[in-house]
Amino acid sequence: MEIYSGKTIYEGTVIGKIHYYSKHRNQIKQECINSCGDEIGRFKVAKEKAKEQFGILRDKAATEVGKNGAMIFEAYAMLLDDSKYTDSVIDVINKEHANAEYAVAVAGNNLADMFAQMDDEYFRARAVDIKDISDRVIDILQNENTDVDVLQEPVIFVADDITPCETVQLDKSKLLSFVTRRGSTNSHTAILARTMNLPSLVGVEIDEKWNGKLAIVDGVGGRLIVEPDEETLAKYKAIAESERESIESMKELKGKPNVTLDGKEISLYANVGNVSDVTAALENEADGIGLFRSEFLYLEKLDYPTEEELFESYKSVAQKMDGRRVVIRTLDIGADKQADYFNLEKEENPALGYRAIRICLERTDLFKTQLRAIYRASAYGKIAIMFPMIVSLDEVLKIKSICEDVKAELKKDGLAYSEVELGIMIETPAAVMISDILAEEVDFFSIGTNDLTQFTLAVDRQNPKLDKYYDPHHEALFRMIKLVIDNGHASGCRVAVCGELGADTTITEKLIQLGVDELSVSSPFILPVRKAIRESMSK
Ligand code: PEP
Ligand code: MG
Repeated sequence: MEIYSGKTIYEGTVIGKIHYYSKHRNQIKQECINSCGDEIGRFKVAKEKAKEQFGILRDKAATEVGKNGAMIFEAYAMLLDDSKYTDSVIDVINKEHANAEYAVAVAGNNLADMFAQMDDEYFRARAVDIKDISDRVIDILQNENTDVDVLQEPVIFVADDITPCETVQLDKSKLLSFVTRRGSTNSHTAILARTMNLPSLVGVEIDEKWNGKLAIVDGVGGRLIVEPDEETLAKYKAIAESERESIESMKELKGKPNVTLDGKEISLYANVGNVSDVTAALENEADGIGLFRSEFLYLEKLDYPTEEELFESYKSVAQKMDGRRVVIRTLDIGADKQADYFNLEKEENPALGYRAIRICLERTDLFKTQLRAIYRASAYGKIAIMFPMIVSLDEVLKIKSICEDVKAELKKDGLAYSEVELGIMIETPAAVMISDILAEEVDFFSIGTNDLTQFTLAVDRQNPKLDKYYDPHHEALFRMIKLVIDNGHASGCRVAVCGELGADTTITEKLIQLGVDELSVSSPFILPVRKAIRESMSK
């Protein structure tokens, strides 16, 4: 028995045979060519074919994992058409009189290296996407088969790295888990694994010799156990069984109200990042959307989304939620969430830096575009707007005045909108301390315990070395939550918790007893939290 550790992408336990996947690719050699024009022509034909294949993969991903997964292939096709990419390939052909395969490999590697050296983890993870695109074009140029292995039985798929293209090509019904050596928890493959509900690990030192061997993926402890002994196998079979039972038992909670033993009703909402997440929210019977992290619509793009694009997304969420409340948080960009086209400067302390509402209040053009889209969507459902990273009354007053301007402009343009509730996230100690003043200006509070923990305990939430100091159960936080709830209630503000603490069933009863009105959690946690609410006393 051998045990290897890794980073968990998605929790859960699976037991199965390992399928080791390795890419066999012909060596790419530099060849001197006669006509640069002919090679450029070959590259262009291969590029078009790759785009066609990405189109097919996009449709496959859309039906299997939803629109979010499909977006990756849209982005791939766009990148193939990006002049930076095509020009650099053509440049290598012209300057080095080289064959197209070689030029694609060189240009692709250069671009991938550039991404790999970026400070931001999200962009570093994009290096693998560039490689994926280039490999496909090279395979087409070399007439290589672009299919991945065909799986015969449900397996633990082990690979050095696996690209989104390869992920989507695999037969979902034959996949138990992904285990890779490379890849970050932010990679698109990680996102796809989570969307497919597959317990998976990255950062595991893999070995080709494992092919066909029995293994256990312990996605809770972040371990891969190869050839487990009888005792370990029996232990994990029992864990897997109890996980299955607990998922099954959750289904019994469907249709039941979120009410405590002594009759207090708690609203239980879903946190979403895009339109396709709404399906899971509805399947798990969310009372509404308590946090729509709207910045993900910006992160998926290569340039600023237009008012029309944003409007279509918000309208679609409002319509899907069919009258249930949808709280859209305005752009919380900056810190760990960066998009190139914002051209944000590198900062020493990005979490304390130029981010979220600070950017919006300076770049009012950007802010107003988003607000116009949200207000327009409010004609199609019950929308509320929430503002992140608030530290002062002045910010709230400015926001309210901009909202008034936006409404006046929409009226002038003859565009429909409804009155919407305005709320703020309480995620800085400053907002906690002046929550009595802020409560007079807004309709609701939503406590962002992820940032509030980071700022209160002075612990960078992005730094894994500080994990042991990141303690959302710290008494300081509970005292803050209590203060916010009391101040909010004194002015008639409803108070929600939308940070990860809201999904922590070990303290559901405590939050209820502190007086919280709403909890907003990722969709897989809705039924477990419902169970905890139903087992709690409100006093
Ligand atoms: C929070 O900070 O708790 C929160 C919900 O916002 P995010 O995790 O997106 O920063
Ligand atoms: Mg936050």
